[in-house]
Amino acid sequence: MNGTTGMTTGTTGTISTTTAPVTVIGLGPMGHAMASTYLDRGHRVTVYNRTASRADDLVARGAHLAAGVEEALAAAELVVLSLTGYEAMHALLDGADPAAFTGRVLVNLSSATPDEARAAAAWAAERGATHLTGGVLTPPSGIGDPASATFYSGPRAAFDAHRATLEVLTAADHRGEDPGLAALLYQLNMTMFWTALTGYWQTLAMAGAHGLKAADVLPFAVDALDLTRFLEFYTPRVDAGDHTGDVDRLAMGTASAEHVLHTARDAGVDTSLPAAVLGVFRRGMAAGHAADSASSLVEILKRPAA
Ligand code: NDP
Repeated sequence: MNGTTGMTTGTTGTISTTTAPVTVIGLGPMGHAMASTYLDRGHRVTVYNRTASRADDLVARGAHLAAGVEEALAAAELVVLSLTGYEAMHALLDGADPAAFTGRVLVNLSSATPDEARAAAAWAAERGATHLTGGVLTPPSGIGDPASATFYSGPRAAFDAHRATLEVLTAADHRGEDPGLAALLYQLNMTMFWTALTGYWQTLAMAGAHGLKAADVLPFAVDALDLTRFLEFYTPRVDAGDHTGDVDRLAMGTASAEHVLHTARDAGVDTSLPAAVLGVFRRGMAAGHAADSASSLVEILKRPAA
């Protein structure tokens, strides 16, 4: 019953989304990009943010700045949350009148652990709202680009009802009903992303100690971080529990990781990251995997370090 083109509402209905109203709560770089994209596409956009000034340019372009979270919830059935984490959601929303949540679909695109997402789904249900968990797989610059993607999980009917509006942001990939699933897939993605990117920062620190700039590293960094052939090679082997050391041996990897650590130490830069990597390799050696592939470290990492 909202919007400037005809539509039906309700979590099981079909919504004509051309200009379906949307509320966006949270205007960090990501939430701001989302609100901006909805404005670009002609949606009626209501925003709310703890720091109201982050809405200034959006308001100048036609967004409505809600005076409080209850007004923000009232403005649209579809409420997109883009906050640092779920603690921020609870900080903002726990004190709101539970009646304000009735019938809302909270699309939570904030980072969370799977357990936090499951708890949030129950929390929303207690208030008569539906919670969809989302994990956005693009930086803010990718919002509005259908080549970007977001994992979703939670009630399929609510997802289907709002799918077209969600697809204004990115392609929408619903992975299942478990509200924790999208959070899990997002954190798996982030595990690779942050670890690889921190390796890149380490590389630049070491390169810089030798007078090299990031631009000098770029030509081979692109190839180094393209792990496609390694992933394709190891995937069936790891799934089969096969860590045969026919292509690489952990003993070789450990010697290499030592050389990385020593190069960092000799350069006078921070050594905590290469030392942590070497620590994992050495645990694999101590567990008897010297002649196995470095993929045997998966078995080591399945257990907490002693
Ligand atoms: P930010 O951390 O910059 O967003 C912060 C938002 O959360 C702001 O609106 C901030 O309000 C609000 N907030 C934080 N703590 C509180 C609190 N205690 N009470 C009320 N509001 C609070 O994140 P981004 O915008 O960059 O990202 C949003 C989400 O999207 C995050 O969960 C992030 O992991 C995820 N994401 C981000 C990507 C990116 O490249 N930026 C990429 C993919 C996912 P205020 O303005 O008042 O500080």
